[in-house]
Amino acid sequence: MRIVTDPMSLRETLSDGLTVGFVPTMGYLHEGHLSLVEAAKRENDRVVMSIFVNPTQFGPNEDLDRYPRDFERDEQLAREAGVDVLFYPDTATMYPLDMARVTVRTGADVLCGASRPGHFDGVLTVVSKLFNLVRPTRAYFGLKDAQQVALIEGYVRDYFVPVEIIRCPIIREDSGLAKSSRNVYLSETERIDASDINRALIEARDALTEGVAITSVQERLVERLSAIPNSTIDYVELVDYPTLSHVTDSSTELLIAVAVQFERARLIDNTIWKRG
Ligand code: AMP
Repeated sequence: MRIVTDPMSLRETLSDGLTVGFVPTMGYLHEGHLSLVEAAKRENDRVVMSIFVNPTQFGPNEDLDRYPRDFERDEQLAREAGVDVLFYPDTATMYPLDMARVTVRTGADVLCGASRPGHFDGVLTVVSKLFNLVRPTRAYFGLKDAQQVALIEGYVRDYFVPVEIIRCPIIREDSGLAKSSRNVYLSETERIDASDINRALIEARDALTEGVAITSVQERLVERLSAIPNSTIDYVELVDYPTLSHVTDSSTELLIAVAVQFERARLIDNTIWKRG
């Protein structure tokens, strides 16, 4: 595995025309990230992973400074998973002038976009930079961040970016808790309590299948999540997927998405319900 920190060496390393599967991450790797690597390995000649904690997607009072980092461990996990090139740039490299950024027009006013203003502008900005640097054949994103996937797909279509976006399933602990770098902020009890989030999402999906009205499903979900001790609901929303707009009678895919704030960790989770 080659570790590359600057754009010139990256370009040199990737100049031989092999197909590239790209897995962008913020590091502190877990099985969720590694499942993206596995998918990328199956479908491409070479796998590039990036590790970059992107400052522009964090709000002023968010956890940029305390976001978990452990490069040595990440390096070892990436090597074992079969990553060929690990791109590990610093902020000055990624933002040489910071004169231009990408902005989201629609789909950022709901879910995480509503509670984290500017977050998705930061995400699309860094993804755009990374795509231009890596020029991947395919790029792999987890549905754990379903809104992010939808907005990246939208960006790729709007800007005619020559890359195929591959949606990958959410990887969970045995308890159902979605794996996340931020789970390290949870206490033992919170970790157990947080597994109720997935159970509540499954119930909501089953209720939709049984024909329960969307407002009732949402209310029941709020009720279920409110019962989780020492936590507060940030949002509980059902939106059309992947447009992220209001659900209509013709919506065929619904995203049921929630964010729950524990003492030190804000957890997001979701499930997609398909009609019929
Ligand atoms: P992050 O390092 O949190 O920015 O995540 C990097 C990539 O890994 C994103 O595409 C995430 O959606 C994906 N990812 C994070 N957690 C999971 C998970 N539990 N299952 C599947 N993909 C995940």
